[in-house]
Amino acid sequence: MNFNSPRGTADVLGPDILYRDYIIDTAKKLFQLYSYKEIITPIFEHTEVFTRGIGQYSDIVSKEMYTFQDKKGRSITLRPEGTAPVVRAFIENKLYAQNLPAKLFYIGHMFRYERPQKGRMREFSQLGIEAIGSNDAVTDVEAIWLLNQLFLDLGFKNLRLLVNSIGCLECRKEFLKILEDYLEKIKNGLCSDCNERFGKNTLRIYDCKVEGCKEILKDAPKIEEYVCQTCKVHFARVTGILDRLDIKYEIAQSLVRGFDYYTRTIFEIISKDIDSAQNALGGGGRYDNLVKQFGGPDLPSVGFAIGIERTYMLMKELNIDIKCIKSPKKIYFIRLDDKHDAYLFHILKFFRNKNYICDFNINIKNMSTEIKKAKSSGFDFAVIIGDQEAEDNTITIKNIETFHQDVFRFAEEADKIIEFVEYK
Ligand code: AMP
Repeated sequence: MNFNSPRGTADVLGPDILYRDYIIDTAKKLFQLYSYKEIITPIFEHTEVFTRGIGQYSDIVSKEMYTFQDKKGRSITLRPEGTAPVVRAFIENKLYAQNLPAKLFYIGHMFRYERPQKGRMREFSQLGIEAIGSNDAVTDVEAIWLLNQLFLDLGFKNLRLLVNSIGCLECRKEFLKILEDYLEKIKNGLCSDCNERFGKNTLRIYDCKVEGCKEILKDAPKIEEYVCQTCKVHFARVTGILDRLDIKYEIAQSLVRGFDYYTRTIFEIISKDIDSAQNALGGGGRYDNLVKQFGGPDLPSVGFAIGIERTYMLMKELNIDIKCIKSPKKIYFIRLDDKHDAYLFHILKFFRNKNYICDFNINIKNMSTEIKKAKSSGFDFAVIIGDQEAEDNTITIKNIETFHQDVFRFAEEADKIIEFVEYK
């Protein structure tokens, strides 16, 4: 009997819940400002949604899907990504009959049978957007702008935004022929995964993290030299408007992405603060043929997804504070002696920076009078600062309703303090 959580999954508790909520709330607010509306699709789909959509030779479809037969023998897959299901839902619900592009966002769990490591799980969650039904470069720009703004709003500073164009199906076909001819003679030097990819998903070889492959790819032909004039003009419009918006980006010629459906503009946001293959926080791109491929109208589209766990793991590592975003709790600070005022203000600053509503007693009376006063004024918590607290650098927090109370070391237990205020 195995009572541990399955490999690659994790329970989410304590402060991680607050980080999750914070990311989701921040994203939802921002998506609404950009006129995106929420869509919720099932966690599982018919397997073809992914085999057709993502491409049968992609890593995800060939190795990573959780696929099973249901009791009627239908092949079902736990969704590994959000775009193919949203496109399926867009067509099934005839959303193309409305104003286009349809601007949709989703939040949900994804499942990929990957080798688990830090920042890479088998169950994880993403939030993402899809703008379905516009070929215009402004749609690409808006998606990139939104992705960039989301991480700025969350408090990230040290990011790289990578963009590239991988051309349309036509110009890419020609490029792939040239790339495969070039690699044919030297493919023995590529890793076994890249040899697998060769001929099926050759473009992905550009994305390989193995040093030997990177070295071989250095002198290989670059897609930039082969994209057609129309794709070039499209990409120049994207970068031109990004310049006007003063968004800092880098053109990364080796950027390719994991799904077959991407065309033209692709982009990724990565953190400069971590040096690992798991430094990509989010990414996306244009997919001009997917809706048609699913039997819908010919509607070019663009979207992105970010990883929620990866984002909050990094926020915690970088000590990026979350602000209180639910209706803010009210905290009353009771100082028992004015000699502790400097300490009191140090603590007040911490709570006010997190957007809690704070006040403190001006007149120093006894504690029970102050607590009664706090209760009648609608405060949720009382924080008591007496001799002991000031001396030990602690704070005593009391829930005014339940009288539950606890003592925390102020500097070291910030997470626990917030957890207490939010949940106790
Ligand atoms: P993708 O759907 O592969 O383009 O990934 C978009 C984002 O989702 C990545 O940048 C990660 O932040 C996140 N992500 C993808 N795969 C995983 C995974 N296995 N575990 C955790 N996060 C993931």
